[in-house]
Amino acid sequence: KQLSGDLIRIEQLEVDFDGFKAIRGLDFSLQPGELRFLIGPNGAGKTTLLDVLCGKVKPSKGSVRFKTSIDLARHQEHQIAQLGIGRKFQAPSIFVTLSVLENLLLSMRQKRGLLSSLIAKTTAEQRSRIKYYLHMIGLEHKSQDKAGSLSHGEKQWLEIGMLLIQEPELLLLDEPAAGMTDSETEKTGELLHKISDRQTVIVVEHDMDFVRQFAKTVTVMHEGAVLCEGTMDDIQNDDKVAEVYLGR
Ligand code: ADP
Repeated sequence: KQLSGDLIRIEQLEVDFDGFKAIRGLDFSLQPGELRFLIGPNGAGKTTLLDVLCGKVKPSKGSVRFKTSIDLARHQEHQIAQLGIGRKFQAPSIFVTLSVLENLLLSMRQKRGLLSSLIAKTTAEQRSRIKYYLHMIGLEHKSQDKAGSLSHGEKQWLEIGMLLIQEPELLLLDEPAAGMTDSETEKTGELLHKISDRQTVIVVEHDMDFVRQFAKTVTVMHEGAVLCEGTMDDIQNDDKVAEVYLGR
C-alpha cells in the first residue's frame, strides 16, 4: 500500500479522560473508497475513535492526519465537518414536521434561511443532487412525506442522506442498522456498499451477523488499541480475537 495515499493515518494515538486512557497507542490507516467495519468488546474505544476523527474529542498524544497533510487535532469539530468528515450520531436529528425533501434541502444549504426561499433558490445542480441521493437512500417515492411519518429504518436512511448530500469524503456511522427490521437491515448493508463506491465509510457495529454479511475489511479494537485487522475470515481465524472478543 502506498502510504502517501492514506485518507486517514493515525499514529500512536492516546486519549486520556481524567487519567483513564480510553485509547492507548492506536495505529490505524484507511484508504480512499474503503468500507471499514470497527468491532470490539464494549469499552474497547470504538466510539472514542470516531469522536477523535470528527473532532469531538481531542487526542492527548499521537497524530491524526486526514488526506496526509491535514492535522485533525488542530481543527474544531465544525471545521472538520467542512473539511469533509461527516458523522452520524445515534440520536435522531431530522425535522419531523418537514418533508423528506425539505430535510435534504436544509441539510444541503447549510446557511440559515426561510425554507420557502431556499426552495425558490435551488439550482438545477442542487435539484439533481437531491434526486440522486433520494434515489440512493431509497426514498424517492416518499420525498413529499413528513419525516415524522417514516419508519425507523427510513428515518435512519434520511439521516444518512442528509450527510451524503453534503458530499463528505469520509462518513462515520455508529451502528447504522440498530433497531431495524431484517429487510431494513439488508437494505442498509446494500446502501453502505453503494456509498463506498464514491466515499469512504467507517462503521462501528455490534451486530456480528451484519458484519459477517456486509464487511469487506474489519478492524478489531481491544483496550484502546487495534488488536487485529483483515477480512472477516482473517478475523475469525485469529487466536487473539477468539480469546478477547469471541470468548473462546
Ligand atoms: P466502545 O465504543 O468501544 O464501547 P468507548 O470509546 O465508548 O468504547 O469507551 C472506551 C472507554 O473510555 C470506556 O471504558 C469508557 O467508559 C471510557 N470513556 C468514554 N468516554 C468517556 C468520557 N467522556 N469520560 C470518561 N471515560 C470515558
